[in-house]
Amino acid sequence: MRGERRRSYEVWEVLCVLEANKGNCAYCEKPSQEMDHVIPWSNGGLDDFANLVPACASCNKKKGNKTPPVWWVSMQMPWFYNNRRRATPQGDERIRSLRERYLELHEDALAVLDNLDEVAAEIADPMRRSWFRKSFARVEGEWWSSMTVGDKVRLCRRIYADEIAAAREAGWPELKRGRVRFVSWGAN
Ligand SMILES: [Zn+2]
Repeated sequence: MRGERRRSYEVWEVLCVLEANKGNCAYCEKPSQEMDHVIPWSNGGLDDFANLVPACASCNKKKGNKTPPVWWVSMQMPWFYNNRRRATPQGDERIRSLRERYLELHEDALAVLDNLDEVAAEIADPMRRSWFRKSFARVEGEWWSSMTVGDKVRLCRRIYADEIAAAREAGWPELKRGRVRFVSWGAN
């Protein structure tokens, strides 16, 4: 059974995903803003940690409902042959054959998949997951109730960036249950 697609995530869950890969997009290494379903929901992907990685808004939008290898090849293959009217599958004196180009892209796509596996393993780490759950399951503040999950996540990332980085350095140390964090606008 595939299960239902979730309508919302807890703040700690989003932080857990977005702060993987040092807070950067798993595809281009720029700062992440969104969670990407590696196997798209519309292609049968699971709505679960096992299938989520941090992505920048640009990569997430461009990838759309494609799987990573399909996206990678569809993005890179036409670019190479654009504006080359003499191009044939066999290439010509200036460009490699379609087969050679495809093999190059295949290597690139495998490197992307290796990186996705590393990021997924990082997110699956039980110590790390426990740290985020215990740290951010309870967050309160004056404006909290009127904020969206996205607003809350952005605010927590801003306020607690140093603390999250320190916990990463320390290997996600065990925390006592039930601590409450407070946030407010204007904090930095
Ligand atoms: Zn990106």
